[in-house]
Amino acid sequence: MDSSQLHVAIVSSPGMGHLIPVLVLGNQLATHHNIKITILAITTNSSSAETKFLKKFNNEKISNVEIVPIPSVDISHLIDSSTKVFTRLRILVREALPGIRRAIASMTHRGPDALVVDLFCTQIAEEFNIPKYAYHPTTAWTLALAIYCRVFDKEIEGEYVDLQQPLKIPGCKALRPDEVVDPMLDRRDQQYEEYIKMGIEYASFDGILINTWEDLEGETVKALRSNDKLRSILKVPIYPIGPLRRTVEITEPDEVIQWLDKQNHESVLFVCFGSGGTMSSQQMTELAWGLELSQQKFVWVVRPPFDGDADSAYLNSTGNDTRGVLEYLPEGFLTRTKDMSLVVPMWARQVDILSHSSVGGFMSHCGWNSTIESLTNGVPIIAWPLHAEQKMNAAMLTEELGVAIRPAVLPTKKLVKREEIQEMVKILMQAKEGKGIREKAKKLKMSAENALSEGGSSYNSICELVKDIRTR
Ligand code: UDP
Repeated sequence: MDSSQLHVAIVSSPGMGHLIPVLVLGNQLATHHNIKITILAITTNSSSAETKFLKKFNNEKISNVEIVPIPSVDISHLIDSSTKVFTRLRILVREALPGIRRAIASMTHRGPDALVVDLFCTQIAEEFNIPKYAYHPTTAWTLALAIYCRVFDKEIEGEYVDLQQPLKIPGCKALRPDEVVDPMLDRRDQQYEEYIKMGIEYASFDGILINTWEDLEGETVKALRSNDKLRSILKVPIYPIGPLRRTVEITEPDEVIQWLDKQNHESVLFVCFGSGGTMSSQQMTELAWGLELSQQKFVWVVRPPFDGDADSAYLNSTGNDTRGVLEYLPEGFLTRTKDMSLVVPMWARQVDILSHSSVGGFMSHCGWNSTIESLTNGVPIIAWPLHAEQKMNAAMLTEELGVAIRPAVLPTKKLVKREEIQEMVKILMQAKEGKGIREKAKKLKMSAENALSEGGSSYNSICELVKDIRTR
């Protein structure tokens, strides 16, 4: 590393959905801007998918990128069975702080010139006396909500979910009460307090990076930059730098890809609900029947059902423990659908699958990584939000962007019956309506490519960010 080369440390919070965007960001800054990157990845014992992924990434040895795993900490004495995932993540990060301090102190060659932290790590930044940036790895809309929620907190009484009117975030699309992010569901729960704090902490950074692009969320980006009410809270620059996403990673033969190679163009529906979302056993049975009845070809990544909170597997994803998973499917399902489907337990190479030309639709929980992996491949979506901010993502995809359809009632509120599932698959994959949705998804693919190409809005935004780091 020469003395003029910038060094940026990026801290990622636990969970695949957080680790992946940080690795992609690091890779982008290292490869295109010749910045030395150290990724401090807070790990958990429970996710072997995470460990495997880190190992693989390290083996690839991307020049200029070093990954330092921050050992997992035991927080069992600080939580109980009712502690929500949002709170657990904030506690995990707080408790990992000594490990982060040690890792930064031990950078013998040269410490970082700037620090970037992702959304659950905003609490740790204040003690490091270097330029600091927060990375919001999801939409501008959810950033606006996180920042403005402190105002709602003062002005609104009672639970948000009981409101009769949508929540009005200045300059942004209104938010329906039943689509608020999980931490806003119960104002007495600790996760709400943590969420408000996170919004306040965001405002103390030197800038905020967002994994979106101007063409996708023009109105919201504009509001974050110039709406008086939002700017009175958030005075720092925002950098829409997306869509940052993993690229195709096929290195060895893969059963799913080989199966897709034999299918017709855009004929397969890919069904996958992220790294930690779960659905009830009854819902899983309906889904299996709905897919079977649709007679559409599909690839389904199956995870064990769970009859509690939809995010309960988030910090507990066993990754490669596939034992017994397929036993949860209805009797005879695998035999009856063997000519039209491939069922994969636990984990599949989603990026490779979504970029395959045989895939024509994606039934997704609308996690933001999954969403941009779909949009950047021009694949339309059946939106099936489960937890976190996914209901907001689903609303944006269906109502604002027109690249998705979704069940009539939120899947977390009411069972989605097999007939409705069958109908949605037919609409997306076969009907005229689906064609229009597909065309819109393809347009967004182009718009994403334009944003990232030289002179595009996200390309320019990253250049401005790098310039800002250099001048500080
Ligand atoms: N993923 C994958 N294979 C799977 C499930 C998930 O590769 O079987 C990847 C997916 O491509 C995405 C990430 O895991 O990059 C999930 O992130 P997302 O934000 O969509 O959802 P989360 O898992 O955080 O709910």
